[in-house]
Amino acid sequence: MITKERIEEIAGKYPICQYDFLKTKDLVFSEQVRYICKTECPRYGKSWSCPPATGTVAQCKERCLKFEHVFVFTTVAEVEDIANMDHTLPTRQAHEEVMRSICQEISKEAQEVLGLSTDSCDFCKRCTYPDAPCRHPEIMKPCIESYGILVTDAAEKAQIDFFCDSQTVTWFSMIFFR
Ligand code: SF4
Repeated sequence: MITKERIEEIAGKYPICQYDFLKTKDLVFSEQVRYICKTECPRYGKSWSCPPATGTVAQCKERCLKFEHVFVFTTVAEVEDIANMDHTLPTRQAHEEVMRSICQEISKEAQEVLGLSTDSCDFCKRCTYPDAPCRHPEIMKPCIESYGILVTDAAEKAQIDFFCDSQTVTWFSMIFFR
């Protein structure tokens, strides 16, 4: 079984901005988050990392509650203006690399790990969904919102700044472990 101290040791090797450990029972799973995915996100129904492929909110919650604790963390990137998506979105890749590496390291020592990350998976040029299985299930991290998790609430409970200023992009991930 991996300890929080060991995860801190692993995470300390990466450019993490803020982190904390939350009890999974304190996370808020909301049908409203799922409704926003469905009605406002262009990636809904286009990726294995998004609903409906991730299952119902109840199924996602059940998957998460198998774990007692979740490691939540952010990385940040500086941009001229976060409203400029052409500059903001490419900074996500560096966060995803950090997320994948930490997940991989924790997986080697934990009994089980579930990683949820930022936004829809864009690892392949074209997602196989829904015609064929995910090409890289070991790499693919579902989007946090795809599980119905209220990220702003989790950030507040973890005392993590979800928004810093108009020149700082904050990327947020969660790693459930046991
Ligand atoms: S790894 Fe590829 S196939 Fe799997 S969800 Fe991501 S883009 Fe789709």
